[in-house]
Amino acid sequence: MTKLIFITGGVVSSVGKGIVSSSLASLLKLSNYKVRIRKLDPYLNIDPGTMNPSQHGEVFVTDDGAETDMDLGHYERFTGIISKKSDNITSGKVYEEVLRKERKGEYLGSTVQVIPHVTDEIKKFIKKDLKSEDFVICEIGGTVGDIESLPFLEALRQLRNELGKFKTLFIHVTLVPFISSANEFKTKPTQHSVKELLGLGIQPDILLCRTESKFNNESRQKISLFCNLSLDSVIMVENAKSIYEVPLKLFNEGAMEQIFSHFNIKKKNKIKLGLWEKFLKKFENLKDEVSVAIVGKYTNLSESYKSLNEALFHSGIYNNSTVNISWIDSRKLKNKKITEKVLKLFDGILVPGGFGKDGAEGKISAINFAKLKKIPFLGICFGMQLAILESIRHVKGYEKSSSTEFGPTNKPVISMINEWQKDNKILKQDMKNLGGSMRLGSYESILVKNTLIEKIYKKYKINERHRHRYEVNYNYLDVIKKSGVVLSGFSPDQKLVEVMEIKNHPWFVGVQFHPELKSTPFKPHPIFNSFIKALIIKKKSKDNEKN
Ligand code: GLN
Repeated sequence: MTKLIFITGGVVSSVGKGIVSSSLASLLKLSNYKVRIRKLDPYLNIDPGTMNPSQHGEVFVTDDGAETDMDLGHYERFTGIISKKSDNITSGKVYEEVLRKERKGEYLGSTVQVIPHVTDEIKKFIKKDLKSEDFVICEIGGTVGDIESLPFLEALRQLRNELGKFKTLFIHVTLVPFISSANEFKTKPTQHSVKELLGLGIQPDILLCRTESKFNNESRQKISLFCNLSLDSVIMVENAKSIYEVPLKLFNEGAMEQIFSHFNIKKKNKIKLGLWEKFLKKFENLKDEVSVAIVGKYTNLSESYKSLNEALFHSGIYNNSTVNISWIDSRKLKNKKITEKVLKLFDGILVPGGFGKDGAEGKISAINFAKLKKIPFLGICFGMQLAILESIRHVKGYEKSSSTEFGPTNKPVISMINEWQKDNKILKQDMKNLGGSMRLGSYESILVKNTLIEKIYKKYKINERHRHRYEVNYNYLDVIKKSGVVLSGFSPDQKLVEVMEIKNHPWFVGVQFHPELKSTPFKPHPIFNSFIKALIIKKKSKDNEKN
């Protein structure tokens, strides 16, 4: 039967539970176990799809079209295990199901309560949609002590009681801060956080203590004594230069031995760490250095574009290059002069996915600059739509072309469509609801032969993930082509534009989908690989000009 590993967090938020969960999943997978990773989010939204990314970070989209927590992105990147809709559970989803059942009369007249009805539903979600998995890692969002997470922790306590120690494992991730004025690592916050868990009936089995640098044995003994754990189960997780070092760090600190010994697994499979070692070695010996400006609106938080950050990093390593990212707020690019001043020093420009009119003209200005100055440009989703607008606006009579996303227009070159096809089925736009109603998840595209994009993929049928409501308007394709755009990828029915390029430019590609969602350290995405390569070439030619 599947073993359940619960990851909780204490002391502060952002303590790194997502990276720890991903790293442990990777180590289990590299030991040849079948693993799933799930995120249990205590907030009341049904999913994070309608949440502002500058508050909650990126919305990660799965192949099967779920809008999920960005931690699922880490899970996929670290493990290559493709997440599903059923891997992200929120309180909202749980309550929605409980209330649906209540209205149907399925509770047969009983008073519907948090225990047992809500906790039963949580337990069902945790065990749902599993086949032959050896392990399911469940990360609980938030910090122990939050009101919202109480029903989740109660459900986990019940699972431990029902399934026993050999089928469940509690790992608590805490922070052990270093207080410089006292010149000491402080264990008290960790002690308090474990006490909080104990008050809820949960004794953690392993503690992962996040720390700036390794603390001494005395502090470890203190934690072991006060938190009622063996010394070996108190594991230090020192700060890392890259999140991708964490699997090896956890392994070296003996986390896997603790996990296997807890589950009484005697015959351990050998853990193949070579992939991580090779990746990190490359990371530490990068030759080149390029810079890219990401022109967007949610520029206050690189968390808003987590996958994009990571994809550029992966392809940088693939190309032996550091990629320095600068986040540029498009609202500041008010005219050509400012745009030039801000962007001229970069080797490449990227306009990522985005929503709304605010800042769109600044992005178009950045696109225009990249086009004219022949700077490598990648437009993703919104970035592609705006690149189409930038181009068509140079055609006489189309200067006012716009997207219906920005309000009424008589040249709706980008517009909302009512229906589209997937796997020979017609899917309709849900006009009434904002949540979960976009073109979401994996769709096939057919690439046009002898185009840059076909060269990049080295094939002409691809599958990529989508998350958008608007599309290039089919009625304007001829004018778009006339404006100098090569339309180089379409949906299988040829109705929806998936890829565009600009003629006579070293590297200018716009894609309607989100390639960043599928990049992993071991399988960097071909579009980003090619983009970074173009940046290196650009940088070298600039350097040559200077000399
Ligand atoms: N706002 C655009 C749309 O909804 C693009 C969305 C995106 O970039 N993800 O179509």
